[in-house]
Amino acid sequence: MERQLEYSTLLERAYKMIPSRSLVRERFEVEEPEVMVTGKRTFILNFKKVCDDMNREPEVLLRYLLKELGASGNREEDVAVIYGVFSPKMIKELINLFLKNYVYCPVCGSPDTILRREERKLMQLRCMACGALTPVKPF
Ligand SMILES: [Zn+2]
Repeated sequence: MERQLEYSTLLERAYKMIPSRSLVRERFEVEEPEVMVTGKRTFILNFKKVCDDMNREPEVLLRYLLKELGASGNREEDVAVIYGVFSPKMIKELINLFLKNYVYCPVCGSPDTILRREERKLMQLRCMACGALTPVKPF
């Protein structure tokens, strides 16, 4: 059963499950990112809303995206600006992976979690529903 799996197995599995269609939807909904490419920059127009929906700080999600994309960027008000051309599909997949790995509790599946950085190289996902404390891959 899920809860008997080792964390490393769960993580491995999570990385293999790269979603390609819509964002994960269970008890809560995360608005689909509105991605626009202009010149050599990629904009996520509703970035703040996406972050609010998943209850994560925009700085945190942006840092994750930039690291995964190997790009630089910043935030202008509610919009994320990424230097480089990235497809909407790629952005959606990364946000979906973020949801799987850094929002949903791997023990009970609840999205009611808090992502904490304990030290420089340690991140934990604390579940408000079941109380589980799960180490996650830091970024
Ligand atoms: Zn939980």
